[in-house]
Parts: sequence; structure tokens; C-alpha cells
Amino acid sequence: MADRFVDHLLIGGGIASATCAQELRDADAKGSILLVARELDPPYHRPPITKGYLGGSETKDDTLIELSDDVEVLTRTSVMALDPAAKTVTLSTKETVEYGTALLATGAMVRRLQIDGVHLDGIHYLRALGNADSLIEDAETVENVVCVGGSYIGCESAATLTRLGKRVTVVLLEEEPMERAFGVQVGQWVRGVLAGHGVQIVGNVEVERFEGEGERVARVVLAGGRALDAELVVAGVGVTPDVMLARKAGLEIGERGGVRADARLRAHGADGLYVAGDIAEYDSPSHGGAVIRVEHEEHAASQGRTVARNMLGAEAEHTDVPYFFSDLADWASFEYVGPALAWDEEVVEGDMPSGTFTVWYLADGKVAAMLSAGGHGDIERAKALIASGGTLA
Ligand SMILES: Cc1cc2nc3c(=O)[nH]c(=O)nc-3n(C[C@H](O)[C@H](O)[C@H](O)COP(=O)(O)OP(=O)(O)OC[C@H]3O[C@@H](n4cnc5c(N)ncnc54)[C@H](O)[C@@H]3O)c2cc1C
Repeated sequence: MADRFVDHLLIGGGIASATCAQELRDADAKGSILLVARELDPPYHRPPITKGYLGGSETKDDTLIELSDDVEVLTRTSVMALDPAAKTVTLSTKETVEYGTALLATGAMVRRLQIDGVHLDGIHYLRALGNADSLIEDAETVENVVCVGGSYIGCESAATLTRLGKRVTVVLLEEEPMERAFGVQVGQWVRGVLAGHGVQIVGNVEVERFEGEGERVARVVLAGGRALDAELVVAGVGVTPDVMLARKAGLEIGERGGVRADARLRAHGADGLYVAGDIAEYDSPSHGGAVIRVEHEEHAASQGRTVARNMLGAEAEHTDVPYFFSDLADWASFEYVGPALAWDEEVVEGDMPSGTFTVWYLADGKVAAMLSAGGHGDIERAKALIASGGTLA
């Protein structure tokens, strides 16, 4: 017998859970809603962590996600065990809760570098507001920063920290920043934007070790021996879906490391249990049924909305095409819809050097993704073309 029953249990305190809670309330669900969140803070937006919050233009309050008063939020509380057959969970407070429907949205954890010197002070990862607070405090007195990783975390942090007056170098495995997700042409454009504002880019190289002076990092040593001065390091080397609870509960884990779900975002083989956000690996109707998993804020929110409708009996498939955005300080910004799992052609429209352009990613002539910089492209048209397997007229 559980200690109590809730109609809708939301596991995880990120955007997916928060949006699901809000959608349930907006749909006028009468039932009880409990959101269980491991972090110190109630749900907040993570994108400002590398942008406005890190740069000082946004406060913690600006990042918080508004929730109705009648959504019960337990912060600093973890779900320790989930029994999908009994529809119960055990919290870190020892309380047991039975649910009618539940959302599993435990998000992702940063990947950590496994090289010599990782224990030194001054090496930071960015996932939570608290990580940004430590970085901001630590950055006050330093001059040289190395960002490890050429994805959006490394590039956005590099831009923001340069804006704050730091001398920043980005070190990456690929030739061009953001190349892996958006291709070489966009990568060269990102390089141009960053380099144009003084960020040094060192591509095609692995970080071998960190060296310190006393307890603190002082240099980043690259394969081949080159050493870069760095009193501060920001490592953005990817994330892994946080499926610890799901795995323990016996849920199916997919090839992309997430929790497998069908097109309605129902976890395989678990009655009344849904997944959303960074852990959701689902059959996407807008990708011809292909299994996808993305780590995009707006898509996590959109999945949270679909789950809320399904918790109330809608039986709706999640047909939204994933949307992503990125800002490089106030120098450049872009939006992207996709993701293109593979593509064989890129069609550029507009003017790349001025930062106002569209890139269409085509696979066998069909639109697989689109990137729009400087507000150039029509995102809704691109979403429609991706979902319908359309071609550029
Ligand atoms: C620094 C940064 C910048 C970003 N910028 C962008 C951007 O510009 N554009 C974009 O589209 N996306 C961006 N993202 C990605 C986006 O923020 C994520 O895709 C989104 O936060 C995923 O939401 P989520 O709800 O799935 O998971 P999360 O936000 O990770 O939330 C999951 C929460 O669940 C908690 N949790 C885990 N296990 C348990 C448990 N057992 N019990 C209770 N709680 C638990 C975790 O502690 C966490 O707080 C960024 C991410 C980061 C970190």
C-alpha cells in the first residue's frame, strides 16, 4: 500500500515535466499533479546558462518556468525507484506514491573528460544554474579560458565569455565548430563569427591533459604537445541521457541511449507511463517512423504538451518536428529544424557572410532539415516539408 495516490506524477524537474504540468492545468485537468525534482531550484530554462545568465543580462528569476500554484513541486527530492507494473515510486524521503499516469523526464547528464588533470580547480561543466554560478565566480579573476568541445555549449560559452572580456580559445575534435550537427559550411560560418570577435579556434585536435600550478589549472595540453594557457576551462563534450531510474525499473533502453517509446510517447510495455525530453527515444511520425532522440529545449516542451494530452486520454501521436536555436552572444543567432539523420546535399539561400541565410539539408532530394540564420528562413514551411518528405520547389 503506497503512502499516497496522485493522478499525474511528473518525474524530473526540467522543461518537459514543467510544460506537461502546465498543459495539464491549462486543459483544466481536475486531478492532483506532483512534480518531483532532484535539483535545488524549481524548474527553469537551461539555455540561458550559456547565454544571458552567464553573461549577466538574465537573473535566476528570469529563467524560472511559471507553474500554477496547485501543481505540487518537491525540489531536492529524487525518485529512487519506479515500479511500472504496480504504478508506484519511492522517493528519497522514503515516501511511496501510487500514480494514475506518470511522465519520466529525467533529462541528461554531462559527459566528463577522462584525462590527466581533470581534478584541478577551474575546470567547469555546464548543466545546472549552480554550475553557471560557480563559473561566473571563478571567471572574475582569470584572463585565459579554453572551451573544450565545438558543439553549441562550447561555442556559446566562448562567445559569452569573450563578451565578458576573457581571451578564449575553443579546442575541438572536428575541423569546424558545430560541424557535426550542421555541416562544414555552417561550421565555417560559425568559425568566422567567433574568430571575427577574437575567439581562437583550434580544430582537428584532441585535448591530452590539463596541467596545473598548485591546485589550479594553468594549461591545456593538446595531442602533439601544444600547450594553451588557461586558468579556466569550460568542457562541453556532450551529454548522456539520464536513464538510471529507467534502467533499474526494467524499461527498454534504445540504441540512442534513451528510453524507448512509441509515437504517442508511451514507454514500451508500461501502462500509463510516458517519456519526454532528452531521454525520449521515440518512433517519430514526422520522420517516416524513424526512431529519434533530440536534446532541444523547445522539443522537450512540445513533448511535455503531447504527454499531457495523452494523460487525459487523447491518444495523440507526437508529430512536431524538433526545433533548436542557438545564440552566439549578440553577434549571431540561428534556428534549426530537423534533425537530419543523414544528408547528401546542402542548398544555401541568402547571404552567408552577412549572417542572414538559410541552409536546406537534402537527403535523396527530400528536405531532411533546415537552418535559418538571422531570421532568414521560413521555419514553419521547413517543418511542413520535413514532415511530408517534400522537395524544394
Ligand atoms: C547550458 C545549456 C544550454 C542549452 N541551450 C540550448 C539552446 O540554446 N537551444 C536548445 O534547443 N536547447 C538547449 N539546451 C538543451 C535543453 O536545455 C534540454 O534539451 C532540455 O533542458 C531538456 O529538458 P528535460 O526536461 O528533458 O531535461 P532536464 O532539463 O535535464 O531536466 C531533467 C531533470 O530531472 C532531474 N532528475 C533526474 N533524475 C531524477 C530523479 N530520479 N528524481 C528526480 N529528479 C530527477 C534532473 O536533475 C534534472 O533537473 C541547453 C542545455 C544546456 C545544459
